[in-house]
Amino acid sequence: MTIETVGVVGAGNMGSGIACAFALAGFDVTLTDVDAKALVPAVASVAAKIDEMIASGNVDLADKKGALARLSTTTNLSDLGTSDLIVEAAAEIEAVKHRIFADLTPHLKAETILTSNTSSFSVTRMAGVTNRPEQFMGLHFMNPAPSMPLVELIRGIATSKETFDTVDAVIKRLGKTAVVVEDYPGFTVHRILIPMINEAVYALYEGVGSVLDIDNSMRFGANHPMGPLELADFIGLDTCLSIMTSLRNGLADSKYRPCPLLVKYVEAGWLGRKSGKGFYDYRGQSPVPSR
Ligand code: NAD
Repeated sequence: MTIETVGVVGAGNMGSGIACAFALAGFDVTLTDVDAKALVPAVASVAAKIDEMIASGNVDLADKKGALARLSTTTNLSDLGTSDLIVEAAAEIEAVKHRIFADLTPHLKAETILTSNTSSFSVTRMAGVTNRPEQFMGLHFMNPAPSMPLVELIRGIATSKETFDTVDAVIKRLGKTAVVVEDYPGFTVHRILIPMINEAVYALYEGVGSVLDIDNSMRFGANHPMGPLELADFIGLDTCLSIMTSLRNGLADSKYRPCPLLVKYVEAGWLGRKSGKGFYDYRGQSPVPSR
């Protein structure tokens, strides 16, 4: 099967980035969100991401015009009915994802392939609630999706070879590097990355160091481009907490318990960059530690 049209569900941080990557690679993209107010900033963020790529010499103005012309938005799931491929990138809440697939599939063609950008939920379990488990797989982009080269390809237990090969070919057309990972909580990247972030939050919680000292330790001591708390704010603290909870539930090991301070920040609505405040406060000229 050849993929030409792509429906992206969820127009947040990842959905807008994924829509951008597909539109730049020549696919026709329809982006949807339950919240109509999310769509205008999503298109603005696609334009801004492409402007950054133009500034770094990777694409030109004609590419931007073409990509924006190939991108449309809607709040009606039925408008995704002609899509060859669906990429679900809505909030990391399993019941929300199940509901989306249940509402979406009646509008789709029989051959449409379903994928989820979930960071931590079982692909096999999500596939099981759809009417086409053999045409379902995990497609985990990294953040920011337009520029990060890696995509994790996650095969559910029922995923057919044809589905896998079709999606693998799409990732090559995006110019990205695929790794194949098994359907276990967190897959590979988050299985390793999110417990490290959680440990950094524990270090802050226990007073081992300040926000800046913890981040600088990993930036200058381990050569990480961002400190773990800065990275947590970038990912979104709600997403980090959700992934940590999935690791604990899915692997049944107490070493994956989310730090109470991470829970508290999420309860306060301090979700990181997207809410203006997390471990850093982003509302001034430049970020400062929030506590
Ligand atoms: P986000 O909070 O920025 O955006 C989520 C979007 O989903 C919001 O715009 C929200 O309105 C929308 N939404 C909620 N319910 C919906 C519904 N029923 N139908 C349509 N849209 C709905 O979150 P995000 O960071 O973009 O994460 C999205 C997905 O990508 C999650 O599964 C997350 O685990 C995954 N992911 C996130 C990162 C990251 O670094 N943030 C990296 C890789 C994968």
